[in-house]
Amino acid sequence: MTIPTLCEFCRYHKSVVSGKGSRFLMCQKSKDEKRYPKYPPQPVIDCEGFEKIDEANSSTD
Ligand code: SF4
Repeated sequence: MTIPTLCEFCRYHKSVVSGKGSRFLMCQKSKDEKRYPKYPPQPVIDCEGFEKIDEANSSTD
C-alpha cells in the first residue's frame, strides 16, 4: 500500500529513481530554502511550502 503524501501533488517535487529501482521524492525547494530537506521523510502530511500542481499549465514539452 502506498501512503499518500503531499509531495506527490506539489509542484516542487521531482521523482528520482535510484539504480536499484527505489523511488524517492526530491523537494526542489531545498535548493533555495535550507529548511526543506532535499529528500523529505515520507509521507509528508503538512508542509508550508506546498503548492498544488497546476494541471492546466503542466505541459511536459
Ligand atoms: S515543498 Fe513540501 S510538499 Fe512540496 S515537495 Fe517540498 S516538502 Fe514536498
